[in-house]
Formats: sequence, structure tokens, C-alpha cells
Amino acid sequence: MKVVVAENCGFCPGVRNAISLAEKILTQRKMVYSLGPIIHNKDVVERLAKKGLKTVSSLQEIRSGTVLIRSHGVAPEQIAKIKEKGLKIIDATCVLVKRVQRIAKQLSGGGYKVVVIGNENHPEVQAVVGCAEDVIVVADESDLHKLPKNSKLGIVCQTTQSPEYFGEMLRAIAQIGFSELKVINTLCREAIKRQKSAVQLCKQVDVMFVLGGIESANTRKLAEICKKYNRQTFHLQNWNELDISMLFGKNIVGVTAGASTPEWIITDFVENLKAFDTDNS
Ligand code: SF4
Repeated sequence: MKVVVAENCGFCPGVRNAISLAEKILTQRKMVYSLGPIIHNKDVVERLAKKGLKTVSSLQEIRSGTVLIRSHGVAPEQIAKIKEKGLKIIDATCVLVKRVQRIAKQLSGGGYKVVVIGNENHPEVQAVVGCAEDVIVVADESDLHKLPKNSKLGIVCQTTQSPEYFGEMLRAIAQIGFSELKVINTLCREAIKRQKSAVQLCKQVDVMFVLGGIESANTRKLAEICKKYNRQTFHLQNWNELDISMLFGKNIVGVTAGASTPEWIITDFVENLKAFDTDNS
């Protein structure tokens, strides 16, 4: 069995930065909290928890200490609340996410109705929504009724979406009537690189494994795209989730991983695949 790993996969600079900041701060301070999981990968969250990072779901759970803002960022209102409580802040928001927040604010200041293309439940999108007045989130064509007719629309996209999806949504929005449309490309190049590598690879293999957290938007996107080209695509968190029957009759296996999947998960998966092959050959 041949195992091929995608050319671009695994940790992106934004995630790498958030984790190294967390590791550094955990050696210097006690009581370090993350509002929600630092990244959407339970293996990484568990590893950092052992080093002392406490993940909480709301600010009310924190009395004192330091709050680490994860790479998805938070809304300005949340930052103000953290400061009001007298907590210290370590900001690990990805620079590309900060850029979307900044653009949303500028568009709103310029009189545009801000529209975010993406998933309204994702923390990155929720943070962008909090950066301007009355932001509208559209995930698919069924959401287009939310858009006001004949308005000035200022459009951005969740960073980890694909260019194809962004394009399809823009085409749909263009049909509904507007007085002005300003589109800023806020897609993340790192996410696009991973998508391109994954598509290239999944077309050449018998089975494709996409490794990463179930909640990870960029990993889910990778799996969704790969499935279009190779129906034998499986989104797994790690080797433990693999059902051996997925490998039966497969000669070439492809492996990719989302931007929040650490190297050790990928290496462990690949080594186990190779060992499985040796044991069964
Ligand atoms: S995927 Fe892109 S936008 Fe998201 S954290 Fe990584 S570098 Fe930043």
C-alpha cells in the first residue's frame, strides 16, 4: 500500500502562533484561560490542559488571571468585558482574522451593509459580526432573503471557506438587486493552499483521509471538497477512529489534515498505516 501525504497540510501560521503563545504564557503565569477551545482539535486542547490551560465557555467562569484570545478572535464588546473584569489579555487572534474584522468595520463606516458569507455559528464569524452594526451572515442561498434590496452591500467571507463557494455565493447575491456591491476577498491563502493540495491528491488515490477536529471548519471544508472528487473520503480525528475495513482493497492511500491538526497526529496516522500494511502483507 502506498501512502501519500498532501504537500500542504496541518498547522497554519495562525494556529502555530496561538499555540506557541499559549505554551509560552503557561510557563510564565498561573490561571490562564481560553474562552472556548484554543483551536478545534481535542488532542491539542487536552495536551495544553495538562500544561495548565483552562478552557471555559463563558467569561462568568473567570474571576482572575489571564484570558488568551484564540486565533478565531472575539468581538470588541467581549474584549471590553474582559478588561472591565480586570483580567489580563493575551491576544492570539490570527492576523488574517483581524483583517476581516477591520474590513467589516471600515465597510460599515463607509455606509455599506456588511454581509459575511459563512457559518453564523462559527466563532470567527461571530466575532466579525460584533465589529460592525447589523451585520448579516449568509451561509447559502436560503439566507439571501435577509439582504435588503437596493442597498450598498459590503461583502467579506469567512477566512476558511473555498474560492468556489465564495464565487457561487457572490453570483447568487448579484441576482437579488443592489445599488452598489463592494467585495473584499478575505479568504485565507493558507486554507486555499491546503484545499488545492487535497484536491490534487484525492483524485489520485483509492481512499482519502482528512485528519482534524470534527468542529474544525477548515477541516470540514477540506473533507467536503475531497468528497466531491473522491467518494472514498473520510474525515477522522486521529488513527483511533479508523475502521480497518476502510483500507480493504486499497492500494494508494491519501492523507491530508486541516490547519488545526498537529504534526504528531499526521505522523502517528501515517506510521500506523504503514505498520498495518506490513502486518497484513
Ligand atoms: S486558517 Fe488562515 S485565517 Fe485561519 S488561523 Fe490559519 S492562517 Fe489564520
